[in-house]
Amino acid sequence: MRIRIVLKPGKEQSVRRYHPWVFSGAIHKIYGKPAEGDLVDLYDSKDNFLATGHYQPSSIAVRILTFENVEPDLSFFRDRINKAVLYRKSAGISTRPDLNVYRLIHGEGDGLPGLIVDFYNGVAVIQMHSLGFYRIRKEISSLLVELLKDKLVAVYDKSEGTVPYKSGANASNEFLYGSSDPVIVTENNYKFRIDWSTGQKTGFFIDQRDNRKLLGEMSAGRKVLNMFGYTGGFSVYAMANAESVHTVDSSLSAIELAKQNVAMNFGDDERHKAFQTDAFEFLNDIRDKYDLIILDPPAFAKHNNVLDNALQGYKRLNMKAIEQIRPGGVIFTFSCSQVVTKENFRKSVFAAAANTGRNVRILYQLSQPPDHPVSIYHPESEYLKGLVLYVE
Ligand code: SAH
Repeated sequence: MRIRIVLKPGKEQSVRRYHPWVFSGAIHKIYGKPAEGDLVDLYDSKDNFLATGHYQPSSIAVRILTFENVEPDLSFFRDRINKAVLYRKSAGISTRPDLNVYRLIHGEGDGLPGLIVDFYNGVAVIQMHSLGFYRIRKEISSLLVELLKDKLVAVYDKSEGTVPYKSGANASNEFLYGSSDPVIVTENNYKFRIDWSTGQKTGFFIDQRDNRKLLGEMSAGRKVLNMFGYTGGFSVYAMANAESVHTVDSSLSAIELAKQNVAMNFGDDERHKAFQTDAFEFLNDIRDKYDLIILDPPAFAKHNNVLDNALQGYKRLNMKAIEQIRPGGVIFTFSCSQVVTKENFRKSVFAAAANTGRNVRILYQLSQPPDHPVSIYHPESEYLKGLVLYVE
């Protein structure tokens, strides 16, 4: 028998609308003492069954796996993972000849809250954000091997530091199946070297794929500045036609990686230069030097309580770019903080523009690609927000 959790009257409503999170404040009573990562059953105040999910003693107390009264066992997870695989086929992602890097499982977007899997040309890199999934990582790995068959060479678990709370603290990164050196992946026919063990997140920011393509199309003849460049993803696409491309990142290893990736695609090309320095400092002195600027900072806010600071950060950053870009310039500006809504981000950019007094138009509004699906019941899964601005 699983432990029962009864919600306060009225708090069942979001669950009935299939929202996959239950906050601790919604809980009326827990019958028993669930351990971190245990499966628990949710009931409304009239004792009607609502859902089953993983328990975590945190502000998101339950991450719901199913709204039906079924056992989340191996065949349940096989079915969910299989659906994620089929979805990427239907969406035309995993069948593209010019692409062998994509997100295979995107947490809530694939009905598997707490589980991320990225596919890098034969290597699946798993990242667990709940102890519930961390506990069954070996089973998840076996299911991936079973379902992807000979497409899969290795499964690497990169959950160190991402599994919350005490019992997850000793998660260590390791291969759960096979092994592999870093791989070269192909994205829209460009090559990137992926090292999941030393890289940030699972090794690459796959979510910017479509936005990088648009950027590539818009950089022809322009002087491009790629702020927060990391692997040089945007820089590589810009190099196809830009007059010059400058990559900025505060991390030396990121700068090295960006140089390597540009060289792998364009050889020793002096149009590209990379600077290891703080973005805010670099942006102090760029007046009229660039006519295309990319601002893709790390998540400024990971939690709601630092939201105001984060919004100020976006404002400051965007103001520096809008103020100094050449007339007729274009800015690709992003926020990947889940707690920053599309509206909030847009307000920050609006405030930044207003402070400069320049005329700014929105050319495009950007988001994440289909392998990072947004569940209609979980608007929070739309975490990547971008605006392409034309500055007169
Ligand atoms: N645009 C990248 C992803 C950016 S990730 C892509 O398409 O792949 C964010 C990057 O910002 C990281 O590489 C990190 O090293 C860098 N960074 C974080 N704080 C910074 C700062 N203050 N100045 C410059 N770079 C910074």
